[in-house]
Amino acid sequence: MTISELVRTDGTAEARLPEPTLGQLHDEAQRVDEELLPCRVNNPELWFAESPSDVEYAKALCLDCPVRTMCLDGALERREPWGVWGGQLFLQGVVIPRKRPRGRPRKNEVAA
Ligand code: SF4
Repeated sequence: MTISELVRTDGTAEARLPEPTLGQLHDEAQRVDEELLPCRVNNPELWFAESPSDVEYAKALCLDCPVRTMCLDGALERREPWGVWGGQLFLQGVVIPRKRPRGRPRKNEVAA
């Protein structure tokens, strides 16, 4: 693994490891007891669920995962198109705070 350098706007530099690949995440997960990986011991469909409550449940389960940081960093790097990774919901490569339920968008309030 190589180390890259992040140069801050104030001119100081910080050594920074590159974002992990999906293969590195897989290798790291292989070293951890499978029982400790929430997405391996629960229904994996939760991590790609349509229901907002199921998505929130998956995000909560990720919080106890021993590879959560690596999982999140890798998903950010890969710009995951969809699903819960590292305790965050991704949609089209970016983290979104909350999944909206299906249906029409809310109408704007009409002034009385
Ligand atoms: S952090 Fe990643 S590996 Fe861990 S449970 Fe969540 S999705 Fe699975």
